[in-house]
Amino acid sequence: MSKQNDIYTDLWSPQALKIRPCSHLFSLKPIGIGTSVTESLSSYLCRLADEHCVSLQKLVTQEISSLIIDRQREQDSTSRSISSIFGNSDAKPAINGMREMTRSLINTLEQLTLRQDLRYLSCLTYQGVIKDRSFFRQHKAWCHQCFEQQKQERQIVYEPLLWSFKDVNYCLQHKCQLQDRCLHCDSTQKAIANNSRLGFCDRCKQWLGSERNDEIEIVEKERQIPTGIGELIATAPALDSPPTLPDTIQKLKLIQLSFERSFRQDLTQFIALGKVLEQLKIAIAHHPDKPLNLVGLLIPVCSLADISVAQFFKEDISGMSKILSVNFNSQIQKISSSSSLASMFNFRV
Ligand SMILES: [Zn+2]
Ligand SMILES: [Zn+2]
Repeated sequence: MSKQNDIYTDLWSPQALKIRPCSHLFSLKPIGIGTSVTESLSSYLCRLADEHCVSLQKLVTQEISSLIIDRQREQDSTSRSISSIFGNSDAKPAINGMREMTRSLINTLEQLTLRQDLRYLSCLTYQGVIKDRSFFRQHKAWCHQCFEQQKQERQIVYEPLLWSFKDVNYCLQHKCQLQDRCLHCDSTQKAIANNSRLGFCDRCKQWLGSERNDEIEIVEKERQIPTGIGELIATAPALDSPPTLPDTIQKLKLIQLSFERSFRQDLTQFIALGKVLEQLKIAIAHHPDKPLNLVGLLIPVCSLADISVAQFFKEDISGMSKILSVNFNSQIQKISSSSSLASMFNFRV
């Protein structure tokens, strides 16, 4: 064989080409997975509809609804609003949450797009561990400066999952309060609607972004909630398996034990810590089978124990034990030297 033919043989692999299976819908990559600004499921659905050049209502009613709702309801699904198809009511916002409909929608979307990372666009990872009641907003909230920045920098316009939480009131990047009413027509925005368009008002169709600088000072206590929820979102893909309630209770018991040892079994001397620790004891002793309140209990407890929400969920019991043994020595000194315990630990429970 001539040298020239050898070259062609090298280039032409004898191995059969591996052809990836085609997905029914475009396998659109979600934005920001593994970060605190992970895209929300509702935002992903809107972008998916855009990619297919159809309205959100058309995408849902013609490609998705028949796979997630029962036959009886299917017959009239084409005439219904997508909000009601998803069982997303004002009282029970479902789309980005932890309800069974969210799981059903994600399973369907993962089949249709052949992606396996869409569960991280919701809080399903923490289903059964974190209480979802009153956890999610009834209507959308957004940072007008984030939207404007995405537009100015020609980035993809999207909504982070973080904006779906009732207790997230600030954008820490722009140090401003989140908006929940259109700047132009003062209307609220549904979590998902037939005519949802990212960054635009459902009603007057105007742009919701703005360069207006509303910078305010956000005190440490107010930063803790968006930071903690952001860590919760960012940590989900890094977990080997979804956390379980018994494991989570074990970790809380370890923290409680660390406090009791540190305070020489006498919690009364630290009355200022009372509310949070009392809630911790009640949760462990009386409600070990109930999902936990993230904002009212887990975030404050983590803060008291000087561990991050990410560490709390990532570490196993022995890892937690090592961190706590180091933290509690320094924590005791910090508490002992503080003249204002009440202000340090005054969390809402
Ligand atoms: Zn912002
Ligand atoms: Zn408007």
